[in-house]
Amino acid sequence: MDILRGFKDILPQDMAKWHKLESTARDVIESFGFKEIRTPILEKTALFKRGVGEETDIVEKEMYTFLDKSDESVTLRPEGTASVVRAYIDNHLELYPLKKYYYIGNMFRYERPQKGRLRQFSQIGVEVFGISNPTIDAELLYMNLLMLKKLKIDDIRVEINNIGCEKCRPDYIAELKNYFSMNKEKLCDDCKRRLDKNPLRILDCKNSACRSVAKDAPKITQFVCNECSSHYNTVKERLNTFGVEYTENPHLVRGLDYYTKFVFEIITRKLGAQGTVSAGGRYDNLINQLGGKSSPGIGFASGCERLVELMEEGDLENIDYYIANLNEDEYAVKIEQRLISETKGRVYVEYEKKSLKSMMKKADKIKAAFVIIVGENERKENRVIVKDMFNSNQNEYDLETFLDNEVKRWQ
Ligand SMILES: [Zn+2]
Ligand SMILES: [Zn+2]
Repeated sequence: MDILRGFKDILPQDMAKWHKLESTARDVIESFGFKEIRTPILEKTALFKRGVGEETDIVEKEMYTFLDKSDESVTLRPEGTASVVRAYIDNHLELYPLKKYYYIGNMFRYERPQKGRLRQFSQIGVEVFGISNPTIDAELLYMNLLMLKKLKIDDIRVEINNIGCEKCRPDYIAELKNYFSMNKEKLCDDCKRRLDKNPLRILDCKNSACRSVAKDAPKITQFVCNECSSHYNTVKERLNTFGVEYTENPHLVRGLDYYTKFVFEIITRKLGAQGTVSAGGRYDNLINQLGGKSSPGIGFASGCERLVELMEEGDLENIDYYIANLNEDEYAVKIEQRLISETKGRVYVEYEKKSLKSMMKKADKIKAAFVIIVGENERKENRVIVKDMFNSNQNEYDLETFLDNEVKRWQ
C-alpha cells in the first residue's frame, strides 16, 4: 500500500529533530508572552474563501475541499491565521487581556509535489491581535529570527515590504493593471489570468519573462498613504533597535490577500527555489472581514519541514538503561519498574531471546548509556552487572545499592 502523493511519514530516527524544533519554538515564543491555541484541522470552506481571499492560488486551486455527509462544504485548513481569527471571534477572546497566540500543526494544500513542498505540511505560527503599534511588527520578526538562531539555522536573509492598506492599495493596483496590460503579451499564462483578478501576484511570478516585465513596474512606495508610510518607517526604525538586518524588496507581495502595511519573509540560500522558511505580516482588516469587532492583527508562520531540513543532525534519541534480560523476566520487570517510577531515565527491557553478545551489539546500536545484565546468578543473589557503555567499565552491585544510587543521580 503506497502513501498518498505529496504526503510523508516522519520516522522515529528523525523525531529528535522535530522534538527539538517544537520545544525550542515553544520556549522562545512563550518567553514573549504568547499562549498556545489549537483549532480544528477541518473548517467550513467559507472561512478560507473569506479569510484567505477568493482570488488567491490557495483558494482557487490548492484546497482540499469536499462535501461531508450532510452536504456541508468543508476544507482541510490550508493555513492557520483564518482559523485563529475565527476562534478569537467565536470564543470572545477579545474579552481577555492577553491576545498573543501561537500554534503548531498540520496544513494541507493540493500543490504539485516537489522537493521541499508537501501536500500535508506543518507550520509553527503566531498571531497578535489588538496592537497597531509598529514596534510589535519588529518584535515578531526579531522573535522569529531568535527562534532560528537557537535552532542554529544560519545563512538566512530577511526581506520586507510595505504593502499598503485598503485605502491606498486600490490606486496602486489600478496603476499596476495599467502597466501590465501594456505588456500583456510578454506575460506567462498564469499572469495573464492574474492580470484582471490579482495583478499584485504578477510581481512575485518566478517566470523569467514576467520578472523582466515586473522589474520596471511602478513601485508601491509612490502610492502608499501617510498612515502606511509612517507605520512602515517606524517598523524599520524598530528593526534597527532590535538589531535586525533586512533588505527591502518592493516585489514582496505574499500569496494571501489579507496583508496590510508590513510584510516580511525569511529566506535561506540552502534550499534552492523553496528557500522561504518563514513569512508573515500585518492584517488590520481580517478580523473585521470575518465578522469580528474591528481590530488590528499581525502574525507569521514558519514551515517546520524546511526548518528540520536546515537543522543539524541531532543526537539519536538514546536509551538510558538497556536491561539485558537473560530469561529472567520477573527480575527484569522489578528493576524496570523502579527505574521508570523513580528516575527520569528511558528504560528498554530485552524480551527477545538473544545471546548476551547480540544484546550488547543491540545496546550499542540504540546508544544505550548503561547495560544492566540480569541472568540466573544475578537474580539468585539479588545483584546486577552494570556496564557503562561510555567507558566500557563493568561493575557488579547489590540491586538495592545500584537502584538507590541511580535514583539519587537523577534528583
Ligand atoms: Zn495605506
Ligand atoms: Zn508569470
